[in-house]
Order: sequence, then structure tokens, then C-alpha cells
Amino acid sequence: MRFSKLRLNGFKSFVDPTELVIADGLTGVVGPNGCGKSNLLEALRWVMGETRAKAMRGGGMEDVIFAGTSSRPARNFAEVSLQIDNSERLAPSGFNESDGLEIVRRITRDVGSAYKSNSKDVRARDVQMLFADASTGAHSPALVRQGQIAELINAKPKARRRILEEAAGISGLYQRRHEAELKLKSTEANLLRVDDVIEQLA
Ligand code: ATP
Repeated sequence: MRFSKLRLNGFKSFVDPTELVIADGLTGVVGPNGCGKSNLLEALRWVMGETRAKAMRGGGMEDVIFAGTSSRPARNFAEVSLQIDNSERLAPSGFNESDGLEIVRRITRDVGSAYKSNSKDVRARDVQMLFADASTGAHSPALVRQGQIAELINAKPKARRRILEEAAGISGLYQRRHEAELKLKSTEANLLRVDDVIEQLA
């Protein structure tokens, strides 16, 4: 899967609709301090399903919505869309029906986030799994935040292992395992209830 375009609308400092074309080869983003370079990288992480407001340098997730300036009012929503070239059909099943894939995340004040894949509503989990299985995603080691190298050097072995697992594309397995364990627990609880009912009937 290759990212081909990132669109932002009302996301942090990008109040007006903005398009970033990610061409073949190396893309560099240059600009003066505070012009929004890191915001672009955060938009990429956010559309892939980031849930930690702190990783977006905010106190709450709604802090990603344009907060207004002296000359422009605040916005009520923020939207980021990521276009993916899927001509090699590398997207996981469920997302692999076309040559192009567009994932959209929108957050509305007091409502929260909603996701779409090629205009169809999808769950946050589906989007997170799509990118985790493709060895990318909100926690991808390919996205290097400011200060992250120092964090990595000082990290405990367990934290470093997580990074290797992200790179290997197996981190989605932990989520699936957790969900399977929850299902198992609820099935066990149901079986106990069935036993009680059978006992009462006997
Ligand atoms: P540097 O080179 O110093 O690291 P940068 O180009 O990476 O800077 P960013 O950190 O991406 O810049 O952008 C910071 C700018 O984004 C600040 O001007 C800040 O006011 C603005 N900003 C952040 N969140 C919002 C928001 N919710 N609404 C409006 N502006 C925001």
C-alpha cells in the first residue's frame, strides 16, 4: 500500500482545505518554525486511528479542531482524508476491493470521531487493524516524532519490543487476542448461567 494524498480540513492550523500530494520518491516538507510541519505528520497518524490526545500534543482529542485566531472563528469539526494507492492489492481483505482506497476520519465537537472507507462507515478498530496489518499505523516506527529518538534510547526492553512488533505488522494480533479472550469470558459466564438453569429444572 502506498500513501498518495493527504487532505486536511479544519485540522489544527490547517483551517482551509489543504492537499498534500505524496509523489513517488522522497517528499520533503520545509517551512519556518510553527508553520505546521509536525501538524501534517500528526494528521497522518490521526487518520490511521490514533486514540491518544497526548500524542497529538493536546489535552483532549477535540484539540485537533482549528481553535480560531483573532481574525478567524474556531471550527466545529476537523477532517483528514488519506488516499492510498492499492493497485498492487496489498490492503487486507475487507479493504481490498478497489485500486484506490480513501480513509476519512472526522471529529465533530461534542460528538466525537467517525471513520469512512471509500465513503462507507467503518469502525475505528477496522481502520486501526488495516494499518497495523500493513506494518504502518498510528504507532508506526516509520513516523518519528520530535524527541522520539531520545525516548527510544532510554526505553525499557519491553517498550522496544513493541516497536519491533509494529514494524513486523503483528501488533494487530494483540488486539484480536484481547477480543477473543473477552468473548471466551462471556461464553464461560453464559455456560455457568445455563448450568444454573438446568440445575433448577432438574
Ligand atoms: P517547528 O519547526 O517549530 O517544529 P512546525 O512547523 O512543526 O514547527 P507545528 O508544531 O506543526 O509547526 O505547528 C504549530 C502551530 O500549529 C502553532 O502555530 C499552533 O498555534 C498551531 N496549532 C496547533 N493546534 C491548533 C489548533 N487546534 N488550532 C489552530 N492552530 C493550532
